[in-house]
Amino acid sequence: MKYISKIVVPALDLCFLNICITDLTLQTCDNITTIRWLAEHGLIANQRICKKCTHPMYLQARRGKFFMDGYCWACSKCNGTKNIRFGSFFERSRLTLVQILEILYLWSLERPQVEVSRQTGVTTRSLVDWYNFIRDICARYLTDNPVEMGGPDRTVEVNETKFTERNNRRGKYKPDQWVLGIVERETNLTMMVPVDKIDAATILHVITQYVRAGTRIVTDRWQDYNALPRQELENHGYTFVAPERPTKNVEGSWDLCKAKFSIMRGTSDANFNSHLQEFLWRRRIKDNFFGNILYWIRHYYDVS
Ligand SMILES: [Zn+2]
Repeated sequence: MKYISKIVVPALDLCFLNICITDLTLQTCDNITTIRWLAEHGLIANQRICKKCTHPMYLQARRGKFFMDGYCWACSKCNGTKNIRFGSFFERSRLTLVQILEILYLWSLERPQVEVSRQTGVTTRSLVDWYNFIRDICARYLTDNPVEMGGPDRTVEVNETKFTERNNRRGKYKPDQWVLGIVERETNLTMMVPVDKIDAATILHVITQYVRAGTRIVTDRWQDYNALPRQELENHGYTFVAPERPTKNVEGSWDLCKAKFSIMRGTSDANFNSHLQEFLWRRRIKDNFFGNILYWIRHYYDVS
């Protein structure tokens, strides 16, 4: 069997990957070192068997527009070839592997798209696509790792807010977007859910998705919930109470979220939901966003 890298680090190691931009640049200074780095980190296949003749393939230097990375998998028996990006997150892109890694790195640092474009030489239009691909990973993570908040002896703050100012470059204003924020006081675990309208029934429906029965729920709108049919409230076992102090955890989350969204104004993409998902992913992951996004890319694009 022929391997690109002598070792492939365990997937969990990626979550703790601590690399500065200088080291990343050094470790991805040309095609072959970049390919080795990606194979070592499990982001492209480290070995491959020929589909036609089941012979082990080897890494072969190749030139031409189908082999933009300078190498491909080749079969010594039937001369078949396979792109080294096959099955990976990097497949079907015309950007170089280094450019994509740089985009991931600068995205993890929340650098503005204009700056990322300048540093990577990638057009802002192409960056918008890549940021969407990255946010797709965040969205899949959130779907596959749903939060459950609250429970007996736990308090959850629920509050709504309206996002406006969602104008894009063409000057078109989109309708206001209501978002429901749910924060568990003890852990600061956060969920934000876009909703079409704000009324007690809609909000209760969202709460039942994320909040365990028996939770004490602090909300400005406690009177609305207490006006719901008693049977409905008893079914869920929630207690709605008025805030004894402002719902500061949710308010804090709104401030952070709105600050982030206001920084993004002026970018050409305005996909509200996917930005919200990125925000929530970062809240859940907490730190080392580069290593963690690589971990989840490896998880969803299993090339082993
Ligand atoms: Zn073959």
